[in-house]
Amino acid sequence: MPLYDDSNIFAKILRGDIPCQKVLEGPHVLAFPDLYPKAPTHILVIPKGAYVDIADFGARASEAEITAFWRAVADIAAQAGLKDSGFRVIANAGANGGQEVPHFHVHILGGCPLGPMVSR
Ligand code: 5GP
Repeated sequence: MPLYDDSNIFAKILRGDIPCQKVLEGPHVLAFPDLYPKAPTHILVIPKGAYVDIADFGARASEAEITAFWRAVADIAAQAGLKDSGFRVIANAGANGGQEVPHFHVHILGGCPLGPMVSR
């Protein structure tokens, strides 16, 4: 696992160096729309703590952080009106996972049929 590098774009958003349109914020979590949406609804959810990816988060985050994170995912899906129509939550990790930003995040995607889970 690489060490956390706080020069990544989400760390800059958390520091307020780069603006974002906040969808939800709590002591442990921040959510905002993806700058390059891949679906009508595309929201990113990130922990405020410094975790590289989902494995790092699962291994090191506190129970309070983990609970806050997944409750936020559920709340956002409900607030965005995605629960009835369905949606997808993606966590890319590492090179094979296609992770571009090395700060753990999930993508919440919805608003249209999303097609196959993976195309290669
Ligand atoms: P990953 O590929 O790491 O799972 O996803 C990173 C996501 O961050 C991409 O979907 C990309 O569009 C999004 N992104 C990159 N830079 C910015 C930014 O400055 N602001 C926001 N809101 N999203 C960004």
